[in-house]
Amino acid sequence: MRAAADRLLIATGNPGKWRELRALLDGLPFEVASPAEYAFAPPEETGATFRDNALLKARHARAATGLAVIADDSGLEVDALGGAPGVYSARYAGLGASDAENNAKLVAALAGVPPERRAARYRCVLVYLPAGDAAAPLIAEGVWEGRIVDAPSGAAGFGYDPHFFVPELGRTAAQLDPAHKNRISHRGVALRALRERLERLDPGAGARR
Ligand code: IMP
Repeated sequence: MRAAADRLLIATGNPGKWRELRALLDGLPFEVASPAEYAFAPPEETGATFRDNALLKARHARAATGLAVIADDSGLEVDALGGAPGVYSARYAGLGASDAENNAKLVAALAGVPPERRAARYRCVLVYLPAGDAAAPLIAEGVWEGRIVDAPSGAAGFGYDPHFFVPELGRTAAQLDPAHKNRISHRGVALRALRERLERLDPGAGARR
């Protein structure tokens, strides 16, 4: 078991993700550092995979702070586009692109592609990097399968959600309430997998929740 109350930084500038990741840590012996205390510029996401980028963000944050770190990377993979936008999901229509611009580019790229060839998935990789250079990372991954539709539906969620149709539910991700989305999404799956692995490091955690 680790020493109690390791200090840990959640390395994301996205407040929604920060809250989800903070909840993941409930009951585990971490003292979560306030992001305001550790202001540093985020690294360039130059990795070829979500895993590379999540590790890159985690190592950058650990080097900047000396703390243990949790970092993530996620995005959308569309089979008919050879896995694009993939690691470029946030900047598919260019650096600083809005969700609307990214979605417009996605719909245009799939023009003429029939529904049965529009399979897509969200993927999320989460990394926990302990403090100290010798320590190995824990890595967890989650995927969420769906299909891209031309017409947007729903106002919840963010990013590509209005175009990400989930066949089993007959709805887009943007038509799900946030709690429902979190239970089944790529991020939810990755969060639970990482939580289980952190609990194995600290067997008392389950009892304290
Ligand atoms: P990052 O993980 O912050 O690099 O974000 C990756 C990008 O993938 C986001 O800007 C969105 O465009 C997309 N993405 C990741 N997860 C979701 C999701 O749950 N819904 C919609 N878009 C997502």
